[in-house]
Amino acid sequence: MYAPTKEAAHRALIDFAPQAGRGYAAGRNYDHGPDGRQNVSQLSPWIRIRLLPEWEVVRTVLETHSAAAASKFIDEVCWRTYWKGWLQLRPSVWDAYRADLAQLLEASREDAAYLRAVEGRTGIECFDGWADELVTHNYLHNHARMWYASIWIHTLKLPWQLGADWFLRHLLDGDPASNTLSWRWVAGLHTLGKTYLARADNICKYTGNRFPVSEGLANQPLDLQEDAPRPATRKLMPSEPIPSDLRLGLLVTEEDLSAHEWLRPQAAFAATAAYFPKDSYQTLRVAPRVVDFRQQALSNVTSREVFEQPRQLLDWAVQHQLQGIATVKATTGHWPGILAKLQAALAEKGIKLFTVRHWWDEALFPHATHGFFRFKKAIPNALEELARNQAAE
Ligand SMILES: Cc1cc2nc3c(=O)[nH]c(=O)nc-3n(C[C@H](O)[C@H](O)[C@H](O)COP(=O)(O)OP(=O)(O)OC[C@H]3O[C@@H](n4cnc5c(N)ncnc54)[C@H](O)[C@@H]3O)c2cc1C
Repeated sequence: MYAPTKEAAHRALIDFAPQAGRGYAAGRNYDHGPDGRQNVSQLSPWIRIRLLPEWEVVRTVLETHSAAAASKFIDEVCWRTYWKGWLQLRPSVWDAYRADLAQLLEASREDAAYLRAVEGRTGIECFDGWADELVTHNYLHNHARMWYASIWIHTLKLPWQLGADWFLRHLLDGDPASNTLSWRWVAGLHTLGKTYLARADNICKYTGNRFPVSEGLANQPLDLQEDAPRPATRKLMPSEPIPSDLRLGLLVTEEDLSAHEWLRPQAAFAATAAYFPKDSYQTLRVAPRVVDFRQQALSNVTSREVFEQPRQLLDWAVQHQLQGIATVKATTGHWPGILAKLQAALAEKGIKLFTVRHWWDEALFPHATHGFFRFKKAIPNALEELARNQAAE
């Protein structure tokens, strides 16, 4: 269903845009199942790799609706930016999750309760249905993700980290920030004192009674506590200026396929390369459909051979006599480690890597210091900037 091309992504955005107004706000919480998803955009797999960047989605929607009519939809798109900014300011939350996960995964291999959950054999019909939908379609409606995560944590009493990992590996839109922090929010670890508990009547109402009333759901949330104090926010690393006196290459990755469009006008690039960290995806055991979707999208957008090893990138840079390479600044997740390896390989030949942040992230990430409602106050300024840029084009 998800073609890994800009054309397919753009067409889906144009088709959905008329529905992104007040109707979206009223209907978005209903999960009518895989064949009835017209009430939500389903754009997330393309947004995840920025084949559709947030600013393009918002700009397109504002061609049909006023900012007031589309405010709910724009807020949802900005939740993604909020989560990414929040984790960027607190990478220790990601590091702690990864460290816990390494231990839990080891023990989970033989854990019958974990295996029943991921294989959809818990006997809780709605949960087992979503477990199947996740591996079959690599997508779940937002409300189903909330119910699933809540049942995983509060009813089945499984570690949230294992559930987050299972989602991240199977969702086409799997994203370190949106996923990890949403699971933490359901677990009651994001907003202190706020936990999300799935209720049978709520599931019945918003799924149109597609599942029999689920008996046996927890009626009290678990009170999860963490040993570590809440992390302090760190300063955002600045975007690096691209020097004009070096022979430069442009590196595009699946983290931001729009870089092809917005970085290119910033310098005279002598050559362009595409890099996909297939080894990392394999180590993380990401579902083949997710890997193929992202790799093919990268290949289609750049129309180039996709390098998979740092050595290939280095050979390409040497062949083109590059002195520097510009790429998108990695956000917290797997990419900072991958970029560090590329940087080390390029340094062997004295080739520098310059990492740049898009103005959208630059403008909004610093506001992700507290909750979404404080962050939201920065959205009108970003929309004004968007309008100014559009007028200047
Ligand atoms: C436990 C859990 C895990 C999640 N994991 C991910 C994930 O790995 N990647 C991911 O992109 N989203 C994640 N979400 C958020 C949300 O469920 C999906 O973004 C949304 O369901 C995608 O469907 P859509 O494109 O039809 O969304 P729409 O409702 O049409 O929204 C439009 C866009 O806004 C963004 N968006 C909407 N809601 C959210 C949200 N709550 N948080 C962040 N961005 C949002 C997405 O980019 C989405 O495509 C998670 C939510 C929960 C509760």
